[in-house]
Amino acid sequence: MDLAHDLDPEQRAAVTAPRGPVCVLAGAGTGKTRTITYRIAHLVNSGHVSASAVLAVTFTARAAGEMRARLRKLGVEGAQALTFHAAALRQLRYFWPRVVGGPPWQLLESKLRLVGRAAHQVGVDTDAEMLRDLAGELEWAKASLIVPDEYPAAVTRSGRATPEPPERVAEVYRVYEKLKVEERALDFDDLLLQTTAALEENVDVAEEFRDRYRCFVVDEYQDVTPLQQRLLDAWLGDRDDLTVVGDANQTIYSFGGASPRHLLNFTRRYPHAQVIRLVRDYRSTPQVVALANKVIGAARHRPPGSRLRLVGQRPDGPQPRFAEYDDEHAEAAAVAARIRELIETGVPVNEIAVLFRVNAQSEAYEQALSEAGIPYLVRGGERFFARTEVREAMAVLRTAAAAEEEPAGTLPDVVRGLLAKVGLTSEPPAGGASKQRWDSLMALVELAEEFAADAAEPTLRRYVGELEQRAAAQHAPTVHGVTLASLHAAKGLEWDAVFLVGLCEGTLPIQHADDDQAAIEEERRLLYVGVTRAREHLSLSWSLSRKPGGRRSRRRSRFLYGLVPEDHPAARVAQRGRGERPQCRVCAKVLTDVADVKVGRCSSCPSNVDPELLAALKEWRSDKARELKVPAYVVFTDATLMAIAEKQPTDDSELVSISGIGATKLERYGADVLAAVRKHTADA
Ligand code: ATP
Ligand code: MG
Repeated sequence: MDLAHDLDPEQRAAVTAPRGPVCVLAGAGTGKTRTITYRIAHLVNSGHVSASAVLAVTFTARAAGEMRARLRKLGVEGAQALTFHAAALRQLRYFWPRVVGGPPWQLLESKLRLVGRAAHQVGVDTDAEMLRDLAGELEWAKASLIVPDEYPAAVTRSGRATPEPPERVAEVYRVYEKLKVEERALDFDDLLLQTTAALEENVDVAEEFRDRYRCFVVDEYQDVTPLQQRLLDAWLGDRDDLTVVGDANQTIYSFGGASPRHLLNFTRRYPHAQVIRLVRDYRSTPQVVALANKVIGAARHRPPGSRLRLVGQRPDGPQPRFAEYDDEHAEAAAVAARIRELIETGVPVNEIAVLFRVNAQSEAYEQALSEAGIPYLVRGGERFFARTEVREAMAVLRTAAAAEEEPAGTLPDVVRGLLAKVGLTSEPPAGGASKQRWDSLMALVELAEEFAADAAEPTLRRYVGELEQRAAAQHAPTVHGVTLASLHAAKGLEWDAVFLVGLCEGTLPIQHADDDQAAIEEERRLLYVGVTRAREHLSLSWSLSRKPGGRRSRRRSRFLYGLVPEDHPAARVAQRGRGERPQCRVCAKVLTDVADVKVGRCSSCPSNVDPELLAALKEWRSDKARELKVPAYVVFTDATLMAIAEKQPTDDSELVSISGIGATKLERYGADVLAAVRKHTADA
């Protein structure tokens, strides 16, 4: 580990800060995860804390696995890197006999069955969509520490839309909890609730726990829920050996109760905390970084302390590509063709991802990639460790590892030899199910290769231990192929080439975000998360209809406005003065209504106007009209003001490109208007 070589000065400051509260607030790709990994390694290697006393919490099982692998490379073995849920599960299993006792509980893998029974009892619809929505409400409530009785009031406070009247949802919640107790079942939220209760209510449990774990690290802290925070508090007790890192602009779980306030208010809670900000983006090319800055620069109502501008550190790369297709099928086929090209130019297939907003979008890409003969894996798809061939392989490996003597040969060779017993051949079979089986077994061999390269003692026994840990944390090895994943699941990860697909209104932002400003902003942050996953190649695409030959009624995402280069064929923005008919800049329809022409958008298309800026402009217009003793519309019409608020012009040329502003108005009001826009963007 070479701190001077591997880290920049700010990262180094965070890594070497003395034990105690440390907070790293920084944008995507600036090395937050690298920083905490090095911090753990530094604290352990320099003898400040033993590895087994460190508990690092990450957001996904995959991230936890990657952190363990990175720690191993830095010479640290035995630190716990887990998700909140996996950590709570482990602790609860251990403490349960002492704090509750009696017969063991069952973990509910999904809430849907019991939510269905509860809904039925209450007399609420039980169709799949309703059950999903109800389960979502229960999850939000539990993550927000809201019990059934408090639910209706909490809904009113938060202004949340509910699938049924709040009282009825509360009743479903109540019945659900009762059914769960009857079945001696716990859901995922209960793991956290029960572990917290065990620590809060049992002094000896708390003491034993706090004696064992002394140093805590949390990645992606912007998405911590009140429930997770409560568990973290129970872990800490009155200690403050806590390092948190996060990026408020990547908060993408607030619909589920998460909030960046814990991150942003960290110093209120720990006034003596070291706060470190990072702005150098080591992940992405300046071209990708520029686009990311634009996406997040357009965000509204960003909390103070979250305005960071990323500075790209890598050499130049290709410009992001934008593409519009007639239908989803064509879009998927084109993406597959482009992926093939990238692979041919040497981009490793594991370094390519297709990211979408909802899992239902995956299918078209699975099909297109299959047709193109490109291997892929679906994140969050079938559980790797539950596959038959993997279970068989684990059984064989376990038996061999239990033998007295460590088998002779290098670990990968030993594993390869053992897996031959369950059908691993030296060459891959042609395709279909047997190819998938082969791929799974090979993934175990590749994992053995990785383990042999990094672990201090790469014995079969230790390797099997690693596999057991991964299975418990559901951390699947990387199977060779293009990753298909939702934007949510892509958090924290990175690929050389990223395809953001299906970027149309109704999908991103998702339909149910409606016109709720906060929900729309969360959707925008999802796009920011997507863009910042790419190291080098980035492609953004959308299609105008779902099925081939269908009505081309879709509109591209409002978030793309201002991102698609003006000379791009898909940009088709209203071009005035060239004999062309003005078009809507959102949906590209020809505009006929005069007011629409002025705004440059159909009145039915979503506006990206910031209400605060519009209000400020209106106030200025009233003052001006009073001063000049003319009616307000003489200064600017509503449509022109709206267009200014939407376009947020930064100079004269952008101002005159707005319909309704000619040389005279530019001279009279230009400076005022530009100043108002500038002031607003600086304030926001
Ligand atoms: P995200 O917000 O997406 O989680 P992050 O801030 O956690 O991003 P990392 O994943 O830690 O960022 O780092 C992004 C990439 O930059 C990684 O490939 C990492 O290895 C690399 N990186 C980080 N810091 C440095 C550095 N000082 N020098 C070179 N590369 C670095
Ligand atoms: Mg990270």
